[in-house]
Amino acid sequence: MLTVDNFNFKDEKVLIRVDFNVPLDSNFNITDDSRITAAIPTIKKILNDGGSCILMSHLGRPKEGPADKYSLKHIVSRIEQLSGSKVLFADDCIGATATELSANLQAGEIVLLENLRFYQNEEKGDVEFAEKLSKYGSFYVNDAFGTAHRAHASTAVIAQFFSGKKCFGYVMANEIANAEKVVKHPERPFTAIVGGAKVSDKLLIIENLMDIADNIIIGGGMAYTFAKAQGGKIGKSLCEDDRMPLALELIEKAKSKGVNLYLPADSVVADNFANDANTNVSENNQIADNYMGLDIGPVASKLFCEVISNSKTVLWNGPMGVFEMSSFEAGTKAVALALAEQTKNGGFSLIGGGDSAAAIHKFHLANQVSYVSTGGGALLEYFEGKELPGVKAILD
Ligand code: AMP
Repeated sequence: MLTVDNFNFKDEKVLIRVDFNVPLDSNFNITDDSRITAAIPTIKKILNDGGSCILMSHLGRPKEGPADKYSLKHIVSRIEQLSGSKVLFADDCIGATATELSANLQAGEIVLLENLRFYQNEEKGDVEFAEKLSKYGSFYVNDAFGTAHRAHASTAVIAQFFSGKKCFGYVMANEIANAEKVVKHPERPFTAIVGGAKVSDKLLIIENLMDIADNIIIGGGMAYTFAKAQGGKIGKSLCEDDRMPLALELIEKAKSKGVNLYLPADSVVADNFANDANTNVSENNQIADNYMGLDIGPVASKLFCEVISNSKTVLWNGPMGVFEMSSFEAGTKAVALALAEQTKNGGFSLIGGGDSAAAIHKFHLANQVSYVSTGGGALLEYFEGKELPGVKAILD
């Protein structure tokens, strides 16, 4: 895998696709700058070699061209703070200013281009648009794992204009190395924990993991589709009736492949989707009509934690319940703590997918697990067995 460590960037103008899609509050203050922080080592390596950087990113989902609230000008000063270098800003990613700034760029300098998604050509993967962007630099680095599953102009299409002069940045290299460690060389037993709201979002990943994992733990709202499919009473819990046959198929598939599939035996149930609702603990297949399951119960939690602590490798994608509310966070927190313990005992743990990453941060355990991925959709697609266009474009 070619990374920035394989090159010396002296006198190169390096076009870097970064993921600076950071959350902003109503006054355009950055509320979480971890995506910028993550890209700084790649930027510094290039500048320290004597090169210069042209940074390109998207921010939010602008639908109809330029919009002030999606402008990357709001993040210029934070990049300056974190990189310790002056950052010039091109207020249009295509056109005279961007051309001039990049043409005059000196070693050690940084230019940030305005939001790529102000042009629809970006998401359409337009070749001409990609070629225009490519003219700004002499070398292409992709460090945006969060968009690696998209065949956009700046994430994949552009790479064809940099034959022999393209590679991964540190964020991408790290993400790929950690994901590959789990898929290609997991120390066994390997346990995959899949949670979250809907089965439909996670069917492909569960199916693909059947060929790799020794144990699959299912939690969260999606567990109730399995419970109902098996004839259980699930009250008002989340359920995708049309996915019940598939849920039964997955149970059968696990049996035939010798994979241990763990479904929650019990749940914390509530009479309302609210933190102050009346709650109870119920067997998962005996939930009263006016109650809904919002977290795994103590029996499930204990078993899941035992399986985790006996595992050498664990992948966690999706929470065990509505962890955003304190009344329903216990199951997700127990799993997070079990992961920290398993990691402390020498195991490898990879946390990925937006909501499990959010959960591990909420419980302040992010630095006690092996790796927390920054790419929600990209990591999910990787574990679904799909080829990521942003990765392929560099390898081609
Ligand atoms: P996902 O994005 O599919 O991983 O789903 C994450 C979301 O699922 C979180 O916002 C959780 O609050 C929600 N969730 C987890 N368990 C349940 C449940 N039992 N009922 C309703 N929502 C849930």
